[in-house]
Amino acid sequence: MDNINIFAPASVANVSCGFDVLGFCLDTIGDIMRVSKTKTKGISIGTLKGQKIPIDPLKNVAYVAANALLKDFPTNGGFQIDIEKKIKPGSGIGSSAASAAGAVFAINELLGKPYSRSQLVKFAMVGESLASGDAHADNLAPVLLGGFTLVRSNKTLDIIKLPSPNDLIATIIHPKIELKTIHSRAILKSEIPLTKAVEQWGNLGAFVSALYTNDYGLLSRSMKDKVIEPARAILIPKFKEIKESAIEAGALGSGISGSGPSVYALSKGEKTAKKVGQFMKTHYDEIGLDYEVHYSTINNEGIKIL
Ligand code: ADP
Repeated sequence: MDNINIFAPASVANVSCGFDVLGFCLDTIGDIMRVSKTKTKGISIGTLKGQKIPIDPLKNVAYVAANALLKDFPTNGGFQIDIEKKIKPGSGIGSSAASAAGAVFAINELLGKPYSRSQLVKFAMVGESLASGDAHADNLAPVLLGGFTLVRSNKTLDIIKLPSPNDLIATIIHPKIELKTIHSRAILKSEIPLTKAVEQWGNLGAFVSALYTNDYGLLSRSMKDKVIEPARAILIPKFKEIKESAIEAGALGSGISGSGPSVYALSKGEKTAKKVGQFMKTHYDEIGLDYEVHYSTINNEGIKIL
């Protein structure tokens, strides 16, 4: 095999109760990447289409992640990466993670799969740290492993793939403003009161349990964020109204997707998810802010070979 085309999906990190540790993979939005073997040693970035991302390889997460892999697995030849970017950078649905994970996944396939999908996370993280200023796997893990994932430790990379209830549908509204993770991290406090921590880990534990038991009621009660959302809500136009209307339309819960500005909701069934989207968008229609709405089942596979 000399080249490979893949679908590198978008993802939702944090999922309200799991800041930096919880995430899930989307199925209806993602980048198309083509990686080809080259005779010249090393990684090169070929064509970049769709969205504005850095041409300078050292600033492109795909290049940086791919290089981290090749450092561990040296080869005589090299690889060219072409990206058709559909996920807008700074949208909060893992644009950089899709590229970092996609690059290492595709190269691994072309090398004959020396690494498992889980083992690829550490290489992709080197790329992701370039975008967010810190190495996190909360978007990368669901993109590489599919479904919902829990990162017990970002240091030792203890990652658990969680089950997803069949009827769960995500609604994502993306206001067309860019919010860089590096900036929305900067406003967070490094310490939190014990009472808030207790609430948060209670919710996270319950959320994980609800995924295993298909308990939609418990899932709904657990989708709370007392720690991060109050600080970041001000960065997202009409956040409070959008979240409230998602719940009014029947969503199980709603919150900031990753570091924003996208807002996500999870619903039981497609009909409710569509209604949630209709309700959410009225707020941006009112103020004339451009947006996109996506609906997706949970992508249990992660990156797909095309
Ligand atoms: P997102 O959550 O959408 O990934 P981030 O702020 O974490 O948003 O990442 C976007 C930043 O990463 C932007 O500054 C963008 O220029 C940079 N970047 C570098 N390479 C890529 C790439 N291949 N795809 C997307 N963003 C990239």
